[in-house]
Amino acid sequence: MIVFDLTCGGLTGGSGGHRFEGWFASSEDFAAQQARGLVTCPHCGSAEVSKAPMAPNLARKGNQGAGQGTGTLVGESVAAPQAMTPRPAQPPSLPPEAMAMLHKIAAAQAEALKSSRWVGKSFAEDARAIHYGEREAEPIHGEASLHEAEALAKEGIMVAPILFPLAPPDQIN
Ligand SMILES: [Zn+2]
Repeated sequence: MIVFDLTCGGLTGGSGGHRFEGWFASSEDFAAQQARGLVTCPHCGSAEVSKAPMAPNLARKGNQGAGQGTGTLVGESVAAPQAMTPRPAQPPSLPPEAMAMLHKIAAAQAEALKSSRWVGKSFAEDARAIHYGEREAEPIHGEASLHEAEALAKEGIMVAPILFPLAPPDQIN
């Protein structure tokens, strides 16, 4: 035998929802009796009976500790918005050729940056110094504003944007 927590749909049309226990030979037995309308609510006779969700019981038990409720309330207020959050959008599906191309470019960028020195925010300054021969030439990469990049380009200094987002090394642990 197996016992189920059951709830009725209610005949009064209101919220209904009497909770009661029902004993059955098996889960299949319950399903068969339910389908034939043999399972009825002992309180109102409704045959609209379904298994009651178990979770509310647990939640109620968890909230019974009155007085020490602050932590619980915080947890609930955090959990609720998370439950409401829609699933993150799927990444755009690109055709396989485009994906392969992107992987190639990403790999090429990673390879190129291996021999390149990260100079961070002094990129424009360093690029200029190298261009005007004030410093030994070397591949560098770093951060520059669009304005700085334009100024460099006007001076004839070759700069190219990094195509893929790159975390500055000083932000990597
Ligand atoms: Zn009922």
